[in-house]
Amino acid sequence: MIHRVSPTEKDPRIMNVSRGGRPPSPAMMIAAPLPDDVSVSFEFFPPKSDAAAETLWNAIKRLEPLNPAYVSVTYGAGGTTRERTHNTVTRIANETAMPPAAHLTCVGATREEVDAVAQSYWDAGVRHIVALRGDPPADASQYVPHPGGYDYASDLVTGLKNIGNFEISVAAYPESHPEAQSAEADLDNLKKKIDAGATRAITQFFFDPEVFLRFLDRARAAGITIPIVPGILPVTNFTQTAKFAKMCGTNVPDWMHALFEGLDEDPESRKLVAASVAAEQCRVLHANGINAFHFYTMNKADLCYAICHVMGVRAPAAFQ
Ligand SMILES: Cc1cc2nc3c(=O)[nH]c(=O)nc-3n(C[C@H](O)[C@H](O)[C@H](O)COP(=O)(O)OP(=O)(O)OC[C@H]3O[C@@H](n4cnc5c(N)ncnc54)[C@H](O)[C@@H]3O)c2cc1C
Repeated sequence: MIHRVSPTEKDPRIMNVSRGGRPPSPAMMIAAPLPDDVSVSFEFFPPKSDAAAETLWNAIKRLEPLNPAYVSVTYGAGGTTRERTHNTVTRIANETAMPPAAHLTCVGATREEVDAVAQSYWDAGVRHIVALRGDPPADASQYVPHPGGYDYASDLVTGLKNIGNFEISVAAYPESHPEAQSAEADLDNLKKKIDAGATRAITQFFFDPEVFLRFLDRARAAGITIPIVPGILPVTNFTQTAKFAKMCGTNVPDWMHALFEGLDEDPESRKLVAASVAAEQCRVLHANGINAFHFYTMNKADLCYAICHVMGVRAPAAFQ
């Protein structure tokens, strides 16, 4: 059980973001940055075009001075971005001071093919893999393990450990994976991944901090001791995110619908709202003992940079 601070009563910096589906109190208090104990990581996806690559690299360069613990690069469904992920990861390794983490999935490939990708990372000096099962391709209704492939993420973690002593992060689901038979079965699966060698779990995005904190309590009660890092998604396109959230089994609280209501045609206001929501989410989590945060950047720096700034994660003066 982690130490709990009531979001509203004990820490005056925190607004109540989660009670009763109501919009947050307008009496939100702006506070001094959080203490200097916050560690962040950023997730990017590999770019599809030269223009997208420029956007990505602008974001990477902007966020680099914040000194993230690592930055990760996703792997497209069915290995469709194998080359692009590899190129982005190795470029980060070669051209930045940030430790890269390469996402790798089981979908649509034999063990030998997946092992070859992992080996190429090891040979390139990349030592951190985010090991995932992956989602079925868009034309498939359900996940079917590839014949001769790794069936589930736990199998992939075992395979990776046979290749090299990678640092391995895996996925966790505060609201349970949509295919999980039960919340307990999902935690058992997380344990399996840890027993196979994973040393960090990064969560699916969620919006209500209580959802994460309850999950953390359950994980700790089940004997899971590794760091479980909340995945934070600053929401810019609310309509699209709400659809995506449904597919992922992530609940979008009523107060969020209320906050974004009427802003469909107003991207600038949406951005401001998104930054304040995510910053408050992080503040509540921090007040409850969480000090590592993984940001789904969507290859854009501005929101994540601003949220980090609010949290006291700042670039050294030389970069400003
Ligand atoms: C931080 C993060 C990063 C991600 N990055 C990517 C990415 O780069 N590329 C991508 O394609 N997707 C990515 N995803 C999405 C992820 O691939 C999907 O959520 C996928 O459906 C499950 O992956 P997993 O690694 O959690 O799978 P697993 O841990 O293997 O679990 C998947 C499901 O199978 C069940 N299960 C596990 N073992 C068994 C078994 N032996 N028998 C029956 N059922 C079992 C589990 O309970 C669970 O319901 C990411 C998700 C997160 C949270």
